[in-house]
Amino acid sequence: MIEEVFSHIFRMEIPLPGNPLKAINSYLIQGEDRFLMVDTGMNRVECMEAMQSSLQELQVDLKKTDFFITHLHADHLGLVSDLAQDESKIYFNYPDTEIINNPNHWEDMEVSASKNGFPESDIQETISKHPGRKYHARQPLNLTLLKEGDPLRIGEYSFQCVETPGHTRGHMCLYEPRTKLFFSGDHLLNDITPNISLWSENQDPLRQFLESLDKIDRFQIDRVLPGHRKPFDDHRRRIAELKKHHELRNEEVMAILQTGRLSAYQVAGQMTWDIKCDRWEDFPLPQQWFASGEALAHLQYLQGEGRIQKEIQDGKVFFSLAR
Ligand SMILES: [Zn+2]
Repeated sequence: MIEEVFSHIFRMEIPLPGNPLKAINSYLIQGEDRFLMVDTGMNRVECMEAMQSSLQELQVDLKKTDFFITHLHADHLGLVSDLAQDESKIYFNYPDTEIINNPNHWEDMEVSASKNGFPESDIQETISKHPGRKYHARQPLNLTLLKEGDPLRIGEYSFQCVETPGHTRGHMCLYEPRTKLFFSGDHLLNDITPNISLWSENQDPLRQFLESLDKIDRFQIDRVLPGHRKPFDDHRRRIAELKKHHELRNEEVMAILQTGRLSAYQVAGQMTWDIKCDRWEDFPLPQQWFASGEALAHLQYLQGEGRIQKEIQDGKVFFSLAR
């Protein structure tokens, strides 16, 4: 599926079979002598096939194509290793590069998941099914790193990089002041809520995400071109909804902690989730994994607010209401 969403900007819908996200938007911007692609799809055959047929239809020469990747997740970055040619530049951000280059990335997550109550016996199986592990870009990637305010020109467009940490530590958007177009990646999505989760200590991604929402609220934007689902207007309405959503989630977590001291995994098991399973035990392992990571993001945030406290007992982390 290809749609011209703006002059010389095409939205290519790349399917993600079996994934609740359903599809990812890869955008192709046509310049005078080069193309710029924003996000790519997972490193799997279904994405490659859809991508190749779209590129053929648009008569794109990959040797003349550069790439801007909003963040490290496999559905955005994965396919770039097969698409990029020697002549291509891959624009990316510093913080997510650090994560990709960390050889202990998955091991660190395993340790944190175990500390936060995820059942030891399920961790290996969950990791082996994790789309981020299965469909990631081949390494090494020859990246060109950008930061806040850096310009990116293609055809009639002059974009600026906008750092929006939260969904990932290095998440970066593109803004074009003249047309007021905003490539939002997974920072702003319209029909779904960007997943904010973590498996590590001493970070507060939800706080970062909320701050990044406030930052984008101040921008003049006419059209948001998101990483998933349809483009939309009125970013301020959506930002208000997302902030409200997280506020309600925080209150839900506070109510759950009324029952006593719990791990992030236990809190996740009592939260409400939009998934067709009656019982937490029936959730597929990857969904339990994402849900627990999301619960932990809320717990870290509430701890930062001084509303709850963290205790470590026998190497395991528990949260309870602040005394
Ligand atoms: Zn993502």
